[in-house]
Amino acid sequence: MEVKYWNKEIETIEREKLEDLQFERLKKTVTQALKTDFYRKRLPEFGINSAEDLSSLEDLRRLPFTTKNDLRDAYPYGMMAVDRSEVVRMHASSGTTGTPTVIYLTADDLARSTDITTRSIVATGGGREDVFQNMMTYGLFTGGIVLHYGAEALGMMVIPASSGNTARQFKMMKDFSTSIIHATPSYMLYLHSRMEEFGIKPEDLNVKKAFVGAEPHSEDVRKKIERLWGIDVYNSYGLSEMNGPGLAFECVYKDCMHVWEDAYIMEIVDPDTLEPVPDGEFGELVLTILQRDAMPLLRYRTRDLTRIIPGACACGRTHRRLARMKGRTDDMLIINGINVFPSQIEEVIMRMPEVGTNYLIVVQKNGPLDRLIVKTEITPEILTDDTRDLYALKKKIAENLKASISLNPVVELHEHGVLPVSEGKAKRVVDER
Ligand code: ADP
Ligand code: ZN
Repeated sequence: MEVKYWNKEIETIEREKLEDLQFERLKKTVTQALKTDFYRKRLPEFGINSAEDLSSLEDLRRLPFTTKNDLRDAYPYGMMAVDRSEVVRMHASSGTTGTPTVIYLTADDLARSTDITTRSIVATGGGREDVFQNMMTYGLFTGGIVLHYGAEALGMMVIPASSGNTARQFKMMKDFSTSIIHATPSYMLYLHSRMEEFGIKPEDLNVKKAFVGAEPHSEDVRKKIERLWGIDVYNSYGLSEMNGPGLAFECVYKDCMHVWEDAYIMEIVDPDTLEPVPDGEFGELVLTILQRDAMPLLRYRTRDLTRIIPGACACGRTHRRLARMKGRTDDMLIINGINVFPSQIEEVIMRMPEVGTNYLIVVQKNGPLDRLIVKTEITPEILTDDTRDLYALKKKIAENLKASISLNPVVELHEHGVLPVSEGKAKRVVDER
């Protein structure tokens, strides 16, 4: 496997040196933080009045956590650490779980953020010879513009397609020989489901890779996209509070996502006790951004559940890796007293070849109990007139789910194109309780 680096020195830096660098940058970040209305009040309550109060990287633990609600309360300018005239960019989260939160960047912040997104693209083998069709939504959302900048800095030809308009997406892919796509996994599946209608076969296209992210998806969904499109698919994780994509990205080995630890400090904590979990165990990801003067964020609780992958990656990078996200602490469903993450349901159904590319989870009240309905689209080949086949398939899906989540779901099979699709983040759960 060919391994390419954008900045070999920093990507393969010794751990000890990396941690020294983190500590230096952490102190700078604390100094910046003390310039914001928010942290100027908060940090002294924890005995931190200046960066000099920290004597080693371990002292990170003395700092308070920051939550999404803190960001909301600080809206619009409570977290800004520089004069407004220094700020060149703002972004806002997509607001999946409530009021959007905003972030700011100075020109230097933007350059550093761009650099790690370029690094991420190079880690997948992308280069200036590539044509990059960016189908993430452009706008306040970081997903589109931030990776656009990284791709441009690398020298790829960038098509700022944004999401939507299937016909135009296909036309551009063909006309410009697009080789790399950036999109949500659900949009990749959706596009594939419409290829036939547009007379397109994956083998007629020049697409080689896709970067998918912005929403949870299982390993089986990755494999499904790879198989349907005949391409390599790389997982990309980011959140707007941390400048969006480029934070964690898979390398050519596609074996979990490297977090650029010169730019972020990661911790995994138990979401209830907030204590660190033992190495390699699942918990909530907590991030400190080290390269953002305009808006420092200390120990930000992402609410995303994942774990750190122990051991080195074959690519030689020393920056540690994160496992695929298991879900968010706030998307866990409690159904008849049983805890279920939508990702567990996805894992079961997407592994089944008969199941198509779209599904929806509905939870309803059923007297004193809850009812779980799993609606899946099925592949056209399975759609026969023989109701016995369909009945057998329904039963098989229900049994597989029962074995995995200990709940008896009602399974509904639908023809392709019936369930709702979204062009941005997919909405997979409707909780009607
Ligand atoms: P919002 O919180 O409003 O959705 P963002 O647009 O910043 O705001 O979305 C970031 C969130 O999207 C992450 O916290 C995570 O839950 C989810 N996400 C992003 N990338 C991935 C990924 N590759 N896998 C799983 N979840 C992801
Ligand atoms: Zn690697």
